[in-house]
Amino acid sequence: MQRIVIWFLAGFFSLSTVVQAMTFSSLSAQQYNNIKQAGLDKLQLVHSDIAPVLQQHQQNPLFRFTRAGESAQGTAIWQIDIGRGPVKILAWSQMHGDESTATAALMDLLNFIAAEQNRSWREKWLSKVTLRLLPMVNPDGAAAHSRFNSMGIDINRDAKALQTPEGRVLMQVAKAFKPDFGLNLHDQNRFYTVGDSAKPATISLLAPAFNEAKDIDAARKKAMQLIGDMRDLLETELPGYLAKYDDTFSWRSFGDTFAGMGISTVLIESGGHPLDDTRQVARRLNTQLLIMSIESIGSGAYQQQPLSAYQAIPFNRDDGIKDLLLDNISLNVNGNQALIDVALDLDIDGNRRARIRDIGDLSIYAAYHKFDAGGLQYQAAKAYALTKPLTLDNAGYLALLREGYSHFSGDESLLSNHSDLPLLVNPQGLTGPTPARYRNATFLLANDQGVQIAVLNGQLLDLRSGKLLQPAKI
Ligand SMILES: [Zn+2]
Repeated sequence: MQRIVIWFLAGFFSLSTVVQAMTFSSLSAQQYNNIKQAGLDKLQLVHSDIAPVLQQHQQNPLFRFTRAGESAQGTAIWQIDIGRGPVKILAWSQMHGDESTATAALMDLLNFIAAEQNRSWREKWLSKVTLRLLPMVNPDGAAAHSRFNSMGIDINRDAKALQTPEGRVLMQVAKAFKPDFGLNLHDQNRFYTVGDSAKPATISLLAPAFNEAKDIDAARKKAMQLIGDMRDLLETELPGYLAKYDDTFSWRSFGDTFAGMGISTVLIESGGHPLDDTRQVARRLNTQLLIMSIESIGSGAYQQQPLSAYQAIPFNRDDGIKDLLLDNISLNVNGNQALIDVALDLDIDGNRRARIRDIGDLSIYAAYHKFDAGGLQYQAAKAYALTKPLTLDNAGYLALLREGYSHFSGDESLLSNHSDLPLLVNPQGLTGPTPARYRNATFLLANDQGVQIAVLNGQLLDLRSGKLLQPAKI
């Protein structure tokens, strides 16, 4: 039986062949590459990643730098003002320390504004708009790869209590600046889909409510209209990957609180995309959304948008897409034969400890990666005990896997590994005779000719070819 790996690539993103139907400036692949800040193509940005970029721009008279305050651990939170117009936009990023995609986009935006070839572009709005940027509001959380600040508090649930220095900085800046528009920049998990579609929500947008009734006042209406422009842009750049974030009123959050202060607030959430671990697709779209927003707000163009454009955006579907779906695995439990699908979470934004996430009929879910395991039966992980020195090359290791061993136990120093395949020593939290949720994604798939596929910490190793069936990184 022939098995195939299906790479989920629907709507593959093309950087170059974009037809511009909008009235806004386009950003070609080459233009973007010219202003894309180097060194930020990674999932987790810390303050030292952006400090040199800020320092480089500090000498530019276009930018007015102010130390707005500092984090609980004493790291500067910088405020950058651009333009001197009457319409004011405040954009802030990474108040959740582990959500840094838009921080990279803000660095790209600074480069875009500063670029000499964009002189006529910026001169169109510098007298109409004042833009104030607060990149990386939570540098301590960033350093710790944590959502929270160093006191363990979620800054975005601190808008009313204001117990965090970082939250107080953001509130003081907003109260002093009195922005017309607020752009609240976050990351969401990669498992959201656009409604019931199979596409991940690479960008989700929201005009947050200011009360439980989700009333629409003049300020919220403007935010919805600006999102209408954002929708038009994304429909051109990457159709089908835009969703609307959950609009439940959140009294303690900054977006909802600012909306209540009469600021037209837009939440921009960066999400996952196929073959894009570090969210560079969402980063580029953020940069484009920021550039477009400055233009649209400066000219008032957003006022042409009907609210129906906002309302037509489908909501996020939580957990609609899985990292890896293994379909049609045979399972035999006490004489009960079953066919099951198994979803794995590859933990790409954590420590890459792959886990079983779901079991059963998972045909309703999309997947970044899929594997049809038809004709193969689940076989539990089994340890090869290290009791004496063992030297392994690929062939020797594959032979042990074919014998039904999935990992090694005992004294790791006894093992000399010359194999270039994934190899597990003393893994924790393994599954037993049947797969189990939240357990280590290490087990075997066999037919009557023996073990065919080893699933090793979520990586599929084909024992016939000796090759991995998916890239080490998705
Ligand atoms: Zn967030």
